Amino acid sequence: MQTPGDVAPRYSFLFPIGYSNSSECGYCRNTRSGQSTKRYSYYAIATSLTPAFYQKLVNRCWRRSGTLLYRPNQKHSCCPHYTLRLDSTQFKPTKDQRQAVNRFNRHIIGDAYASEAARLHPRSRAEARRRHNVFDLVERVHEPEAEFLKSPPSPDHAFAVTLEPDTFTEEKYAIFENYQRVVHREPPDKISRHGFKRFLCNSPLSRGSTAAGGPDGKARPLGSFHQCYRIDGKLVAVGVLDLLPDCVSAVYFLYHESIHWLNPGKLGALREIALAREAGYRWWYPGYYVHNCAKMRYKIEYKPQYVLDPEDLRWYLLDKEALARFDRGHYVCFSRKEEEGGGHGQGVDIPATTGESSENGNTAEEEDAQEAAGEEDAFLLASNMPGIPTLADMARVDMDRLVLRADFSDNLIVASHLVIWDTEDIAQPGTLKSRIAELVAAVGPDLLGEICIDFRKRSSS
Ligand SMILES: [Zn+2]
Repeated sequence: MQTPGDVAPRYSFLFPIGYSNSSECGYCRNTRSGQSTKRYSYYAIATSLTPAFYQKLVNRCWRRSGTLLYRPNQKHSCCPHYTLRLDSTQFKPTKDQRQAVNRFNRHIIGDAYASEAARLHPRSRAEARRRHNVFDLVERVHEPEAEFLKSPPSPDHAFAVTLEPDTFTEEKYAIFENYQRVVHREPPDKISRHGFKRFLCNSPLSRGSTAAGGPDGKARPLGSFHQCYRIDGKLVAVGVLDLLPDCVSAVYFLYHESIHWLNPGKLGALREIALAREAGYRWWYPGYYVHNCAKMRYKIEYKPQYVLDPEDLRWYLLDKEALARFDRGHYVCFSRKEEEGGGHGQGVDIPATTGESSENGNTAEEEDAQEAAGEEDAFLLASNMPGIPTLADMARVDMDRLVLRADFSDNLIVASHLVIWDTEDIAQPGTLKSRIAELVAAVGPDLLGEICIDFRKRSSS
């Protein structure tokens, strides 16, 4: 993590990569007949991010992978990515989720402890009735932790969860290596310390804390952390989290195969929701939702959940009707009526004429994408991407006061001092000024005063 000078708390440092199509899609993998893979996104590299600024970005469809930030175009995608969030204060665990917690707690505590503790520390009748009627998530996830258990007696296992800085350790890497190889079935030669560091350690988010005054009266930590789960002192799982002013954003969850039978993914999600609730972050972001990807369905089993509309950037309840719209349409815009917003992409998902390549079978959407894909990189300001200002909009934005950091010095300079500033045109793709305008458009012109264009670091690896 870099902290460039004393301006670090004020600016987030970004380097514009550009708008382009990804040649691979990990969600649908095979290209369907008549439809080539297309995943258009705008990309930038972050050398330093304030949690407050990144919170604004995730509320505008952005997400990070290591230091790479990206904002997908839901309209030009084989697998449109939608941002989800769950209100932890309204969360109601399902029977299945409650059972996962209870089963895990019983495994840690053990039958002997349970019966002995009931004898030594009996619950009052009112307390027993409350526990029977109410499943208090925060209380239950902490229940098996060694520090909360009454002793004697001794539980079968010692369980502890700690929030640690997102630094690399061999202990964490051993879990990552096992998880990727056994659970994810990744070839061993694709798994490396370098890859682990790049994606899950040393995030560009600066660490800090909120002012005191959460539900527990304490300040909330901000930044990227590893939530480490240990049984009998041995690390068994790691939740990679971005803690932002208003949310716990789940980055990744990895665990050792030996605890697979305990349903660790579910326990991790519930633990993160409990953290959002008890510390006062309120929202839990489970990452992107891709409706046509069955592996993502688990995310929407946590309710109530809201989906971010790509056009008006407001949140809509992800209820049965919203899911039905995803079933009917490829690209869904919740801020417009279905006739206006959803019809465009209908039928794209599973063409009726599979196996045939019909010249007339392309939808307008595909033609747009093919045009854009004619070049390796496309121009964001001509992309018609949802939620992004047009070229005409950007021409009216005053970018003169934008701050830049150049290669050659630690001083920040103002954009209008650049020699090219008055000669270059944002309408000319590839020029420095148009690349900067793309970045400003992608983050939103109203956030122009919070970013510094950083030309010092051009690559994430
Ligand atoms: Zn895809």
